[in-house]
Parts: sequence; C-alpha cells; structure tokens
Amino acid sequence: MKECTMKVSRKFKRLVVKIETPITKTGNGPAVGGKINNLLLLGNGSENSKKNRKRYLVKGIRGWINHAMMAIAKREGVEVCHTSDKTETQKGVNLLPERFHANGKCYPEKECIKHRLMGSIKKRSILKFEPVIIVLEANNKGKKESNIQSVHVATERRNALKSETKISIQDFGERYFSGELTIKIELLEELTREELGFLLKAILFAPELGLGASVNNGGGRVQLKQIALQEVVRSRWFDKNGKVVEEEKTRNLWKEMEEGTKAWPKTNA
Ligand SMILES: [Zn+2]
Repeated sequence: MKECTMKVSRKFKRLVVKIETPITKTGNGPAVGGKINNLLLLGNGSENSKKNRKRYLVKGIRGWINHAMMAIAKREGVEVCHTSDKTETQKGVNLLPERFHANGKCYPEKECIKHRLMGSIKKRSILKFEPVIIVLEANNKGKKESNIQSVHVATERRNALKSETKISIQDFGERYFSGELTIKIELLEELTREELGFLLKAILFAPELGLGASVNNGGGRVQLKQIALQEVVRSRWFDKNGKVVEEEKTRNLWKEMEEGTKAWPKTNA
C-alpha cells in the first residue's frame, strides 16, 4: 500500500513571527489606549513529581495585534472597528475616538479591513492564533516538545509595608517572562494581498505599543526577529501499532509577503 493513501492532510497558510522580549510583565495592565487585560500567564496545572513543569499560557497576543491594527489604520486615515462595541455611555457621552466605529458595526454592509480579518461577535475571525505555551527554561533543558516554548519565567517579589512600621500589608509576586517566543497565526481563509499587507504592517508596528503590563515603566518591550508567511501541509497517519505520526511540510512565501506589504496602504496614485 502506498503511504500517501494512509495519510490525512490539510494545506493552509500561516504567519510565523519570532519575537524576543527582555521583560514582559503580566497581569491586568492597561495597554496603550485603554484598560485591556492584555497579557496573563496562567498556571496550566501540569506539574509532575520530578520537576516543576508548570506551563503558562501567554494571553493577549491577539489583542496586541488588534491594537496595532487600530493604530496603523488611524495613521493612514482608514476607518476600522474599535475594540469596544459600545458607542456611548448611558448618559450619551461618545466613547469612540474619531475614525473608529463600534466593533462589528461595519458588518455586513461596509465591512472594514480589520473586521474582515479579526471579526467580532457578528462574524468569527479568519486568523487563528495558536496558543503560546511557555515553560520555565531551566526545567526544560534538553527536552524538545512541539508547541511548548522555553523562556525565562520569574517572579519579582514585591513587599509593601505599612507606613513607618515593618508590618507587611501586602506581599505579592509579579510574574514576568523573558526570552524568545514564536507566534503562529493560521490563516483560515485565503487573504487578499491588501489584507495580508495590513496584517504584516500591524505586526511590524506592534512593538511600538509594547506587550503586557508596565509598558510605561519599561516592561513589555518586544523585538521582532523574523516574520515568515508559510504554506503548510500537515499530515497525520498511524503506524501498525496505532501510534499517530504527525508531519508538517512548509514552504516560505517571500514573494507573496512582499506583494502584500506593497498592497497596503492603498495609494491613490
Ligand atoms: Zn469595522
């Protein structure tokens, strides 16, 4: 029997973004431009007896890119969805900055470029952000697990004392992580060149906003190392003992990336 008949395969495109952060703090830190729970590390529970194998889920990557999209659209004078779906307070005070509409309000009649990619409650996003799961680097030496990335994770001890005494009224740790991370964004539909360009430029802009908490105090600095658009063929099959094998074949699409970055913003030349 030919091997290929045993496989189940799917072909899709994805963006792979390598970033490096010297320090990104977590928690409910206000992001630039609003109160956003921008990044959280979640203890993922699985600790085995031998080693501390706590895993953390880095949240807030989608929100980070979302804000970068708003920022670049604003700079080009292109109206897009705001992250908020409320237009005014109960007292009728306008909440939306100029050049934004409430999230999803453009759909379906005049769907904006951000909504086409990110969706809203009215339509699901065509960008699937793979969960970024990290584990403490020191505990992951020599191990190679797909989908899990090793970075430095630590806790900054904070101790607040009651004034003029040594009595601690608050003792808490602030988590941070540091190191290199890879973000994978799967494209669930084919993007137009313009949409691809908009997404790429938003990613390029994102470091200007910073990631996570304490952005104004030096946290959340991010450096982009590499961006690649890939065509992926993912196959899965099982051997005669039922062991499932997964394989990914990738091809980089540099030309398509270049065409995308030229297609947005549209010039009216
Ligand atoms: Zn919109």
